[in-house]
Amino acid sequence: MRVTGTVQGVGFRPFVFRQAVALGLAGFVLNDSDGVLIEVEGDRTKVSELCRLVGEAPPPLARVTSVDWDTLPGDGGLVGFSIIESTKGRVPNVAVSADSATCEDCLAEVDDPQDRRYGYPFTNCTNCGPRYTIVLSVPYDRPATTMASFKMCQQCQAEYDNPADRRFHAQPNACPVCGPQIAFYDPKGQLVAGPETALDLVAQALMAGQIVAIKGIGGYHLAADATDHGAVAELRRRKARDDKPFALMVADLDMARSLCVLGADAEAALVSVARPIVLARRRTQDAVADGVAPGVGDLGLMLAYTPLHHILMAKVARPLVMSSGNRSDDPIAHDDGDAFARLGPMVDGVLAHDRRIHIRCDDSVVRASGRRLQMVRRSRGYAPQAMPLPAAAWRQVLAVGAELKNTVSVTKESSLVCSHHIGDLEHLAAYEAFVQATGHLCRLFGIEPEVVAYDLHPEYLSSKYAPELDLEPWPVQHHHAHIASCLVEHGHTGTVLGIAFDGLGYGTDGTMWGGEFLVADFDGFERVGHLRPIGLPGGAVAVREPWRMALCWTALALGPDAAARVGEKLDPRWRQVLALSLAGNGRTRPVLTTSVGRLFDAVAAMVGLRSHVTYEGQAAIELEMLARSVPRGAAARYPVDLVEGAPGSPDVLDPVPLVATVLREVELGREPSTIAAGFHEGLGLATAALGARLARKNGLDTVALSGGVFQNVRFSDIVEDALAAEGLAVLVHRQVPPNDGGISIGQAAIAALGKRPG
Ligand SMILES: [Zn+2]
Ligand SMILES: [Zn+2]
Ligand SMILES: [Zn+2]
Repeated sequence: MRVTGTVQGVGFRPFVFRQAVALGLAGFVLNDSDGVLIEVEGDRTKVSELCRLVGEAPPPLARVTSVDWDTLPGDGGLVGFSIIESTKGRVPNVAVSADSATCEDCLAEVDDPQDRRYGYPFTNCTNCGPRYTIVLSVPYDRPATTMASFKMCQQCQAEYDNPADRRFHAQPNACPVCGPQIAFYDPKGQLVAGPETALDLVAQALMAGQIVAIKGIGGYHLAADATDHGAVAELRRRKARDDKPFALMVADLDMARSLCVLGADAEAALVSVARPIVLARRRTQDAVADGVAPGVGDLGLMLAYTPLHHILMAKVARPLVMSSGNRSDDPIAHDDGDAFARLGPMVDGVLAHDRRIHIRCDDSVVRASGRRLQMVRRSRGYAPQAMPLPAAAWRQVLAVGAELKNTVSVTKESSLVCSHHIGDLEHLAAYEAFVQATGHLCRLFGIEPEVVAYDLHPEYLSSKYAPELDLEPWPVQHHHAHIASCLVEHGHTGTVLGIAFDGLGYGTDGTMWGGEFLVADFDGFERVGHLRPIGLPGGAVAVREPWRMALCWTALALGPDAAARVGEKLDPRWRQVLALSLAGNGRTRPVLTTSVGRLFDAVAAMVGLRSHVTYEGQAAIELEMLARSVPRGAAARYPVDLVEGAPGSPDVLDPVPLVATVLREVELGREPSTIAAGFHEGLGLATAALGARLARKNGLDTVALSGGVFQNVRFSDIVEDALAAEGLAVLVHRQVPPNDGGISIGQAAIAALGKRPG
């Protein structure tokens, strides 16, 4: 019997062993480079039963892709059942599983004063614990992990060798006698306390308002008491982080419920083995400091996911800020030396341990909208779970993703593996992590890519890196990749009308796209509609300064005099920017953009939310929060023009009437929430109307929504509902992020499934 999928490092062999012994079958099971191989001999119905169990009731962390079996002739003369050591030396072709939250059995041991693992922060078993972050190579065995340097004590070894034990071949198996240990250090790296008292001292420090760096599964967190205003404000100052919300760790579901309104799907995600950060609507009377998530109506919550976290949360009995261990937007620190160098100056103490983290892996983030869960950042707990491709790839592909929120993906046969979140490549450390991740992913999954897929944007570091690889280059347009990522997730192979709305992506005409209607499939795309183009004054600066777009849209909608009035309120540099945006020709003419993300920014600035932002998408997020205080039924529908293009050229979504309405309402002193709701409703319904028209015109019955703008739940719901009311099938992201974290998935699918050249 051949079993493929995520079947190594998840307790598969002991599971097979126990079932086979219980059924009285003889034979063996082994891990090899293709997965798990089983040979059994015995009563026919019992052999069938084993086949059924392997396929239908595998161990909790396993993901079985296929089970194939064949009957061997004659009597094999097998006696008893055994587990055979891994065979080495061949090209690996197995999936390494994701890191997994501590299981109930292990937690019970950690809590039991009579157990030898009482209070031990690294307790794990085949059903839980670190995986992806500690694996150096495959086959997945202890010497190929960062646990190699810890020699198991007799008791641990006995568990490891006993097929009936929960820790049989649990590679990270450890106990207080033989395993990793924690220690508490001062910010300069001087030892303060060993394993016996370290967590007590950390808890005391946190409760006294101090900031502590804590080493976890995929990197360091910066922790502070979330109920302490002073501590949270101090963390913001030291991290140089102005407004971006902090994630919180809570002890259990009850604590989570006291802070946020949680639906069943949000609760299921919180307790899942992936333990992502779940963004959910905060209660008005929650107990956390205002500085945790200023200006945002959601909180990001996660449950403790290692024994270390569980022990600490029990000691402090309050929500903790658990922000990624970095300054500003740098990559999260995961290496101990680097952590002391970078985090030392920002903290009052460091809780470290001596189990090395091989792969840096940020916490994953999902958003609970009430309607569905949507992935925002797919990383720890999910990476590197393989996803099925809608068809078999005809070649092996490496896709290097976008510039921001970078991930990389590889394909092999009919599956695709996307890396953890690597981050923004403009940071040197993230770029180094990117180069490391591309090689590591190929080695772990035994992939020798023939093709490298990359973004058309000539300035993306990932696009500059691609040609260095000596592989066949395969450029993919940014928004085509967004739509393809949505098709992958839905297993859709047909042609769709794709609506890709985001911040900025390089278009085939050299302008910055971001409000696109594409007739698309894996073979290619045609641009059949877009937002009305407008100058992007200052290029990338406009992303940080929404007032610039507000000025340009005002000038376009109501003329330069109105723009001057608006400009005076927004920024002293308005005169130069207005002159630039009005320049019809010449060297100073700004690059054109069709970005819907920038339109959201502009309107946020117009209603007085903010003319400058401190993190990408901040203005748009705050505009959504404003809009949702108005029920959908009570929202006005601001007008948008749909302009039919000449034959063969795209239709245009023209928001000028909408912008004019926003400005008039602001002048009339209308509530910003009313204006925000009217803007969402008007733009959303117009988007759906144009989408439906273009779908019909092109004979398509399915629409796919992708791009960072569709992280806006209010907007996404309006578009989805209106398209569905037109009788169209609507594909919306769930497991793949709609933002640029999904770009490498779309790129990989296009290069692996798209038309063979020639
Ligand atoms: Zn366990
Ligand atoms: Zn031990
Ligand atoms: Zn994008």
